[in-house]
Amino acid sequence: MEPREPTSADRLKNLRRQLHAYPELSGEEAGTAACLREFMMPCKPARLLEGLGEHGFAAVFESPEPEAGPTVALRAELDALPISESGTIPHISTRQGIAHLCGHDGHLAMICGLALTLKERPLKRGRLVLVFQSAEETGQGARAITLDPRWQNLGVDYVFALHNLPGYPFGQVLLKAGSFTAGSVGLVARLKGRTSHAAYPERGLSPAAAMSRLVSGLVGLAADVEAHGDLALVTVVHARLGEVAFGTTPGEAEIMATLRADEEQTLAVLRARALEMVNREAALDGLQPSVSWVEEFPVTENDDLAVAAAEQAADNASLNTAVPHESPFRWSEDFGWFTRQCHGALIGLGSGLEQPELHAPDFDFPDELTSVGVRYYEALIAEMGLR
Ligand SMILES: [Zn+2]
Ligand SMILES: [Zn+2]
Repeated sequence: MEPREPTSADRLKNLRRQLHAYPELSGEEAGTAACLREFMMPCKPARLLEGLGEHGFAAVFESPEPEAGPTVALRAELDALPISESGTIPHISTRQGIAHLCGHDGHLAMICGLALTLKERPLKRGRLVLVFQSAEETGQGARAITLDPRWQNLGVDYVFALHNLPGYPFGQVLLKAGSFTAGSVGLVARLKGRTSHAAYPERGLSPAAAMSRLVSGLVGLAADVEAHGDLALVTVVHARLGEVAFGTTPGEAEIMATLRADEEQTLAVLRARALEMVNREAALDGLQPSVSWVEEFPVTENDDLAVAAAEQAADNASLNTAVPHESPFRWSEDFGWFTRQCHGALIGLGSGLEQPELHAPDFDFPDELTSVGVRYYEALIAEMGLR
């Protein structure tokens, strides 16, 4: 008997499980990207844009009439998380302390699955760009892509991404116009004083008091900010004072906090207030302050046109739709860098009511959801007029 040819579903399941077993951290996804490039080559993209934002790349598929339709980009993320996976699944992470616990392995399998359909059902009009994005979890990948002139020259009209969402019915399409996920930014505040012997603290300049005022003050800061949306939140995530040295009065301190809001305007107010507070508290004790900002995620603003198309596509694919809730999700996604440039929407795809939460140590993307995502993406590109 001839060995059976693997079906698309088999290939996607194997691909997803291989990615899951060999996860890579944000900005280090060289192996993941190589594996996906190899998978994509037989699908015959017209061209590959490589090195788009670290290890990211884009596969561009042209129809015979590229100018007769829009250029539509679909994005999936390459990176895994610095968390140890628990459980006993056969494809469990082989790398200590790194795991695909956000389902990015599944998102990748979904856009690869769409690429596999192009042979039988080629594009008729426009262009399709499949984006394999590096470093989503640290907020760097999407930004780097949008700044790349090669990306800008593609003239993308619409950009979409699916993110699986545990706690929602399996296969339900979650849509919301306006802000879909909150924006956030990391604050790193440093206070510099002067060390002295612990026996003579009065001869040094310790940042201890200013640091403790900031730890409580920053958390309370959001309460003072008049939120334009529903969410204004500051979480102190880390603080450090001097060194572990019982003979020394500390001479420096570092405080890190995440600022979060569902409107850009509110986030800007939080930033200005935090900066003001650090400078004020430092000045009060004669300390030298310095502030830097890291891991910036803009609010993901879903565009009305893109959401309307996404909703019609769900209907056409016979998938049930819902609005997740009135307010945006509190977590952040760097997809907002794309929606600043063109029409676009981040779309939730329910991965089941019993599914462990995103970033939980026992999360594993359900393989059965891959074909649902492919079916949805097929309906979406048809709705956009690509075939
Ligand atoms: Zn995540
Ligand atoms: Zn994610």
